[in-house]
Amino acid sequence: MFYYPIQYDEPLFRPPSEAYSFILQLTLGCSWNRCAFCEMYTMKKFRERSYEEIAADIAKMRPYANEIRKVFLADGNALVLPKEKLVKILVALNNNFPRISRISAYAIAKDLQNKSVEDLQELRDKGLHLLYVGIESGDNAVLKAVNKGENYKSQKNALLKAKEAGMKLSVMILNGLGGEEMSKQHAIHSAVLCNEIQPEFLSTLVLSYPHGKNHFMKRFKGNFSSLGTMGLIKEMKDFIENLELKHSIFRSDHASNYLVLKGTLNRDKAELLERIDHALNAPDEAGLREEWMRGL
Ligand code: SF4
Repeated sequence: MFYYPIQYDEPLFRPPSEAYSFILQLTLGCSWNRCAFCEMYTMKKFRERSYEEIAADIAKMRPYANEIRKVFLADGNALVLPKEKLVKILVALNNNFPRISRISAYAIAKDLQNKSVEDLQELRDKGLHLLYVGIESGDNAVLKAVNKGENYKSQKNALLKAKEAGMKLSVMILNGLGGEEMSKQHAIHSAVLCNEIQPEFLSTLVLSYPHGKNHFMKRFKGNFSSLGTMGLIKEMKDFIENLELKHSIFRSDHASNYLVLKGTLNRDKAELLERIDHALNAPDEAGLREEWMRGL
């Protein structure tokens, strides 16, 4: 919707829930760019955009000021920028688009750790209300194998810091990331990490291989046997069984998922587990997505 006046540096990614947001690139690529499963920005050389470049994009969007309610800060980790620069950009957004109700961004734990709670509070006060964080797993062995550059503790501390600053969190777990070998521990430790964080939004995606399975396996440090459909669904069962959430909107409806699940956890936990059991016991009746429907 808002793509027209801006010359984006492609490819451009945003969460599905930001489909109608003004997407503003503060950085290009991802400053980490080393996760074994992620090809989002491997073709881009990371760089921070200058304030002048960003201000020029904001100026191009001024004619749409009355329509802009939400802004998403791209690319992979806009929060790598110094707090002062982020504040200046947020102030410019608020001055130019008075009807903004929410600004959001992808975030990685190390960028949150590099800022104080007070820094994050200031960003929150300037409108940065929601962070999308791909924690992928709560299991240290899985995180190490895929070279996430984080561990259970670093992710827990970073996300609790953002929460303390008043930000909302939308976290993502990658179903199948540890393969058959680490499926159980991946499911359980991911659930325990989510329990500690209590995110407002939780979603799961299924591991996919945009450059082929061999390419992924070369980057994976350890043995990896990919899970089949039933293995992935069983892993979801282990994950959900171990969740103890007070009020998290849960979605497992990304195109990569074979079994679509939606609910509020823990309120709908029993119902979701019932659906999973049905899929495991009677897969032909469970309405699983066929491979061609997954659009990957
Ligand atoms: S930190 Fe995120 S964007 Fe960067 S390589 Fe890892 S998964 Fe991809």
